Amino acid sequence: MFVLDSHCDTPSALLRGRDLRIDNPEGHLDFPKMKKGGVDAAFFALYTSNTLTGEAALERALRMLAAVQDCLEANKDLAAPAVSPAEAFENKAKGLISIFLGMENGSPIQDSLSLLRFFYRSGVRYMTLTHNGDNLICDSAAGSGRWGGLSPFGREVVREMNSLGMIVDLAHCSDKTFTDCLELSVAPIVSTHSSCRALASHRRNMADWMLKELAAQGGVCQINFYPVFLSDEFAAVHDDNIPQSGTEVLPSYRRVVDHIDHAVEVAGIDHVGVGSDFDGIEVAPSGLEDAGKMHVIFDEMRRRGYSEEDISKVAGGNFLRVFNDVIRMSKLSQK
Ligand SMILES: [Zn+2]
Repeated sequence: MFVLDSHCDTPSALLRGRDLRIDNPEGHLDFPKMKKGGVDAAFFALYTSNTLTGEAALERALRMLAAVQDCLEANKDLAAPAVSPAEAFENKAKGLISIFLGMENGSPIQDSLSLLRFFYRSGVRYMTLTHNGDNLICDSAAGSGRWGGLSPFGREVVREMNSLGMIVDLAHCSDKTFTDCLELSVAPIVSTHSSCRALASHRRNMADWMLKELAAQGGVCQINFYPVFLSDEFAAVHDDNIPQSGTEVLPSYRRVVDHIDHAVEVAGIDHVGVGSDFDGIEVAPSGLEDAGKMHVIFDEMRRRGYSEEDISKVAGGNFLRVFNDVIRMSKLSQK
């Protein structure tokens, strides 16, 4: 089994000085925790807030890229970069954790396909088109509907991502952006960190029709661990900033598996995975406090009767299949 977490905000923690070599008492992810939880690979997100635009967004992404490069250079005995599933398997055979790069929010590319290509050449293998606001590429689930989905530039971006072999990530996008991307993209698309709207009504989660359409095109939805996206009961308390009277409303890791169950029921076993959002969320489910506990998800799936083959698909197999499909369908692979 190859375990892949498709979304971690750990580069933000690197900028704050976290050392991934040690088991940090605070924070969700470092190399010892990944080892302990059996996590073979993680996508590190170069995240830019929608409050940053233009050159400031680009500078932020470059600083994060440099911080990840420094981190990997300093930990060559523990981890290595990867840009394809094949490289990640080679790393695992050498006993190394793989770190993939993703970009969360396309604002650092500004209005430039050249910058998009630059980030691809720097190792970035997915781009979450936007974050909690509309940008030059598309509308966000939290936005005002500036473009009515993808912008004209956003359409060029998706075509270029298909051409490069970069995965299109629709986490944070508006429903209309989702529909536009599915219509336009020739390669399967993903959400790297979204849960199920049928179980928790957050606008950021995937409705059943979205799960079905994603699956019909061969894509995958990676279930997010953030309690606000897992439980309306918790979200109501959390969003109102009511001090919590204990942990009774905090969902446990079993709630993550409820979302996996639902997504599997609606989309099928080949279209579901895990994208923790670790280090990007201020609270994690009980029993799944950090990357060192990742295995509890698969233990719970086992208890619920999933076969080892099916667990392996959700643990990383499905995302890696989509990743390979995106590479295979790119223009570069045909040259
Ligand atoms: Zn996110």
